Amino acid sequence: MRKPVIAGNWKMYKTIGEAVAFVEKLKPSVERAEHCEVVVGPPFTALRAVADAARGSKIAVAAQDLHWNKQGAHTGNVSPSMLLDAGCTHVIIGHSERRHDHGETDHQVNLKLKAALAAGLVPIVCVGETLEEREAGATDRVLERQFLGGFAGLTPSEFSRIIIAYEPVWAIGTGRTATPEMAAASHAVLRKLASKEFGEGNAAALRILYGGSVKAENIGKLMAQEEIDGALVGGASLDADSFLAIVNYPRN
Ligand code: PEP
Repeated sequence: MRKPVIAGNWKMYKTIGEAVAFVEKLKPSVERAEHCEVVVGPPFTALRAVADAARGSKIAVAAQDLHWNKQGAHTGNVSPSMLLDAGCTHVIIGHSERRHDHGETDHQVNLKLKAALAAGLVPIVCVGETLEEREAGATDRVLERQFLGGFAGLTPSEFSRIIIAYEPVWAIGTGRTATPEMAAASHAVLRKLASKEFGEGNAAALRILYGGSVKAENIGKLMAQEEIDGALVGGASLDADSFLAIVNYPRN
């Protein structure tokens, strides 16, 4: 039985004050939420304050990126130990906006992933195809390339600590969601790769989140798919009521 994860990626939104106010509002409402894990991903500047506000609650804190080195001359970057120091337990790696805006490669995703695991952070690794790739019928090939490149050299035990987010690039921030069936089909491709590379047990336990214009109105149908183990939510995670409605997705 895989415990679902509902994670919010706040991207470059929210001041420290806004981020803390969000957590204070969300905290009491998720206290009795046993059905899923709840994670929020503030910008670097608000991590410490959000971690302090979330302390003792069910809300876990994710950074949106990290550097693979422990320290060094890397202007603008943040190391794994700095994230731990700021109170993070999770880190988002390889988001399509980082791949696109910063030219992040599968190899760099792999370096970041290994550094996160070595530090004891839970990585949420994003993969997903562009519209062009989907229309060219290359979705499965792209997922395989990202999977094999991103997860190269991991032991099965390291792999068991990872969460994957399948985020078709054409669905991120566009209002265009993959159908639950489309998402489930890509999740199945990823699970099959996981089984081949890291064993059946790890594949069965792997949590694969869907991301791409998830909102309160579509989360129920997505979560009804056996293959979908939660969501990575961008836009709709910025408002506490909207995020809470996603956390409390319809269940029977
Ligand atoms: C994301 O940023 O990971 C994302 C899925 O964004 P949105 O929900 O806004 O599409």
